Amino acid sequence: DERLLEVNNLKTYFFLDEGIVRAVDGVSFTIRPGQTLGVVGESGCGKSITGRSILRIVDRPGRIVEGQILFHRRPEPGDASQQEEVLDLVQLDENGSTMRAIRGGDISMVFQEPMTSFSPVLTIGNQIMEGILIHLPVDKKEAREIAIDMLQRCGLPRPHQVIDSYPWELSGGMRQRAMIARALVCRPSLLIADEPTTALDVTTETQILQLMQDLQEELGMAIMFITHDLGVIAEMAQEVIVMYLGQVVERASVLDLFQRPKHPYTQALLQSIPRIDRNRKKRLNAIRGMVPSPFNVPPGCPFHTRCPQAIPGICNRVTPRTVDVGDGHLVNCVLYDETIAHHERATSVE
Ligand code: SF4
Ligand code: MG
Repeated sequence: DERLLEVNNLKTYFFLDEGIVRAVDGVSFTIRPGQTLGVVGESGCGKSITGRSILRIVDRPGRIVEGQILFHRRPEPGDASQQEEVLDLVQLDENGSTMRAIRGGDISMVFQEPMTSFSPVLTIGNQIMEGILIHLPVDKKEAREIAIDMLQRCGLPRPHQVIDSYPWELSGGMRQRAMIARALVCRPSLLIADEPTTALDVTTETQILQLMQDLQEELGMAIMFITHDLGVIAEMAQEVIVMYLGQVVERASVLDLFQRPKHPYTQALLQSIPRIDRNRKKRLNAIRGMVPSPFNVPPGCPFHTRCPQAIPGICNRVTPRTVDVGDGHLVNCVLYDETIAHHERATSVE
């Protein structure tokens, strides 16, 4: 099957005075061209750092310590060789020319709060055109036209006016649309969307999600959709990874995840959202116990301190393997690992 991005055993750690935070700790997944992969989990589980690792914008004192991020880069239009190249983004200089060309060109990112990603002192137009002029072989006048066209496609009324506005002159929803326009204007093959609608009211959120799906179809891009909101995942994604304390605990198609969740953490997440989506802005808070300190990730299965199905004597010392329970539905839990369950249960003192 065709691949756009393959992340293998990615580890991104933060080296702090208080200790090491393993924010991303051995994460693997793939994204196919045009696909939407949902990345879900409570805050602090490493979702955003995974996205930032791909773009090589991890803030100090964090750094990638291990793993591969293989990106299948499409040939530039007009490139005579027309060969796809596979680049390991981990091996690139984060400030080098290749990474700068990929960032915003082939892979771009939208964030929860556009006020922090737009500069307040430059017009929307200048900030969108800046990217166009870096990545596309056009002059200023053409860049302006491309920007206006993309603002229009992103559903901004009066794009000729919006382009000369400052970010603070727009409403939250309009700013979010402008940020999406900036992210998509160079037609990336992958968009990393980090909670892009979390700060919006439900009506605006619905519109923005629809817009993203329309543009995805039009541009043929893949989306890595990071959210804590399973309702958004259900609407947007075809496949999902569930993260807990820097690790992927389950990967499944959206249908399997909602109908046949395997990992006790995923089951708890699903039980913690209301059946009807009306109140889905409520925080996930029904999972018993506290998320452990990132400085002190429990040994064995990291979820064992909160898991209602934890097996005494096993889950607190055996690191679960990834098991395929069928059709690529992957689970990290000893309950599904025949070898461990039998062998270890036999020797367990419990
Ligand atoms: Fe629960 Fe054990 Fe499975 Fe971890 S490995 S999720 S503690 S049953
Ligand atoms: Mg986050």
